[in-house]
Amino acid sequence: MSNTVRPLIAGNWKMNGLSDESGAQLKALIEKTNSIGNANCDVLICPPATFLREMSSIAAGSVVSIGGQDCHSAEKGAHTGDLSANMIADTGATYCLVGHSERRTDHNETNGMVKAKAESALASNLIAVVCVGETLEEREQGKTLTVITDQVKNSLPKGATAKNTVVAYEPVWAIGTGKTPTPSDVAEVHAHIRKDLQGILSDADNMRLLYGGSVKGSNASELMALEHVNGALVGGASLKAADFWPIVETCI
Ligand code: PEP
Repeated sequence: MSNTVRPLIAGNWKMNGLSDESGAQLKALIEKTNSIGNANCDVLICPPATFLREMSSIAAGSVVSIGGQDCHSAEKGAHTGDLSANMIADTGATYCLVGHSERRTDHNETNGMVKAKAESALASNLIAVVCVGETLEEREQGKTLTVITDQVKNSLPKGATAKNTVVAYEPVWAIGTGKTPTPSDVAEVHAHIRKDLQGILSDADNMRLLYGGSVKGSNASELMALEHVNGALVGGASLKAADFWPIVETCI
């Protein structure tokens, strides 16, 4: 992990939990973070949209930030079931994931759509967490770096800076499977993303690059120690404070 970039440990709760139990987990997490303050690391939880506002009010004043899991690219309009970035921000959330592989797969989201969503997030003063990652087939065909370059270049919002945008590298085959790439594979992709960003942005060296895909307490410190890995995006192991906390602890 680079010393100059403040890490971010982010939890993606996906479509899990109801407000009471999830609120209790968030409170337990906040209690743990209270013991360390916000000295070395940012912490983010992305709950289901139905209780974003409730989680934002529980987290208010704590070091834990709250984010949406997706947003529509339009500001408003006839898009039944969707939420605009403005609406996400209106709940008190300050971040928004865009382009998670489950969105790219389940909702056929293209790089262009992800970019438009990220731009909408920035326009609503949300920090966009732009997710990229190769499929197993692409990795086996030796296309990983080409796919990642394509996703980074075409999903990144116009106006992206290290302050308003985070990139999360999540190999699709590692999400929720218990499989992780080797540390040297992760290091290779992160170094590649950094290089791609250096060609596009003036503050590329400060942009947070998260690794995601079956991160847990037992593998987090090895992954977080890698150069150009500035934090994690965590699914399953973020649902319970007791599982998530050891991952946060690797950065403090
Ligand atoms: C994710 O959903 O972004 C993710 C990385 O999930 P998991 O940690 O469960 O693999």
